[in-house]
Amino acid sequence: MKIVPIPVLDNNYSYLVIDTGSGRAAVVDPSDPVAVQAAIEEEGVTLEAILCTHKHWDHSGGNAELRQRHGACKVYGSALDAVPELTNPLGDKEKVTVGCLTFEALATPGHTVGHTAFVLDAGPFGGPPCLFSGDLLFLAGCGRLFEGSPETMLASLDAAVSLGEDTLLWPGERHPPQNPLPHPQTAR
Ligand SMILES: [Zn+2]
Repeated sequence: MKIVPIPVLDNNYSYLVIDTGSGRAAVVDPSDPVAVQAAIEEEGVTLEAILCTHKHWDHSGGNAELRQRHGACKVYGSALDAVPELTNPLGDKEKVTVGCLTFEALATPGHTVGHTAFVLDAGPFGGPPCLFSGDLLFLAGCGRLFEGSPETMLASLDAAVSLGEDTLLWPGERHPPQNPLPHPQTAR
């Protein structure tokens, strides 16, 4: 398997996760469809799934265009979160399979009511678990509490912390949001 980080916008990461054996791939939080499409073409893979952590445009802005380009591609995320183009609503602990890749949804509300992180089981490939944390957890901070209480956010962070010590963190943004906040406060 292979994970390709795609820097997008000013501060975000999308991730192209590839089952190299079959050439099937999933993308996490494709905000910029042009950048993501370029990575798909460079890697020569088939996009089968969009894993969308939450509704904000800087994580979901490419869902519609990528769905148009890749007819069989499904969009996974929480039904609580108005994810654009959602085709496959996920509950906590539900799994998504793409080729030999298995992801588990981790309900992590607080930043938004339906925020969902994704945990890739890289065990079959001899790797550690990989947490795609969206706007739950950054490298030095966490996402803003737009739609949840501090208690809700803490419970979600505890869910992330309860993953194995060897878990690799693949955050949705490169650094904690600064003030003034260039964040989609106008998002639904
Ligand atoms: Zn957000």
